[in-house]
Amino acid sequence: MVKLVIVVPCYNEEEVLPDTVGKLTELMSGLIEKGKLSQESFLLFVDDGSKDGTWGLIEKYHRENRLVDGLKLAGNVGHQNALLGGLMSVRNEVDAAISIDADLQDDISVIEEMVDLFQEGVDIVFGVRQGRQTDSFFKRFTAQSFYKLMKGMGVKSVYNHADFRLMSKRALAALSEYKERNLFLRGIVPTIGYRSECVYYDRKERLAGESKYPVGKMLSFAIDGITSFSIKPMTMIMCTGLGMIFFAVLAAAYSLYRYLTNDVVRGWTTMILSIWFIGGILTFSVGLVGVYIGKIYLEVKERPRYIVETRLSEGDG
Ligand code: UDP
Ligand code: MG
Repeated sequence: MVKLVIVVPCYNEEEVLPDTVGKLTELMSGLIEKGKLSQESFLLFVDDGSKDGTWGLIEKYHRENRLVDGLKLAGNVGHQNALLGGLMSVRNEVDAAISIDADLQDDISVIEEMVDLFQEGVDIVFGVRQGRQTDSFFKRFTAQSFYKLMKGMGVKSVYNHADFRLMSKRALAALSEYKERNLFLRGIVPTIGYRSECVYYDRKERLAGESKYPVGKMLSFAIDGITSFSIKPMTMIMCTGLGMIFFAVLAAAYSLYRYLTNDVVRGWTTMILSIWFIGGILTFSVGLVGVYIGKIYLEVKERPRYIVETRLSEGDG
């Protein structure tokens, strides 16, 4: 029988937590009764430095509910790192782990399908959302442009898959080998290479509370995703540079010809234009190169990506 953990990163989720705990408990006990999951399967709620009553709630549910375990991170490290923290803390205790957002926008009824696939020997099961009807137009548009951009930049990622997935023990072991600090799990997991499958579902509305991914965070997530996996932007700049040199040669030849034929143009406009044009491109290039250097800087520091403060089940004895 499969010993499963469901890892749920939570950041200021006191509004949805009661509902989420209830639904996941019901689902998991159902699967345990059916004999699909072992008795020792559990839910791990990772508190990502929440400022509200999230941790208090997790502690309370841990006391009342056998299936609930909690992990408190020392501070807010963001969704991706919190998720990694949860997965890595329990990876040696389980056969497989499923990660899911606390707001249950992803359909938990496909978890059974994920477990079945795992039983058949699949190591990674991606949850893929079929429709986005419940997302606002803006969210849908930005998210879809994001997937397309990623693809255009040559990043291997599963279309319309977020962080709802099952990973086997050995897939988790493989994940632990990725040492990067700029974590973008959806880009990393498909590169692991074990046998993988997709399950499909409709994405729902957030149960309660607000999105913890405002536009700013979404944008930086997208930039992170691209600059962590692709060096295409740099290649593009290089090509632009080549094009500019070619253009400059033509322009030089042309002005020389005008000069020799004594037909000198007082090209103030052209000059000002090119100053701005070149200035803009240079600034942009320097900025982009800076982004990469910034990443190198962060990587060489090799800081811990998360620090575990408490693991509830350890105090039980
Ligand atoms: N989350 C987290 N740390 C953060 C931000 C978010 O652990 O700094 C968690 C959050 O609690 C939720 C998941 O990441 O379980 C996804 O966040 P959300 O549902 O707000 O994102 P959206 O679905 O709007 O993209
Ligand atoms: Mg959500």
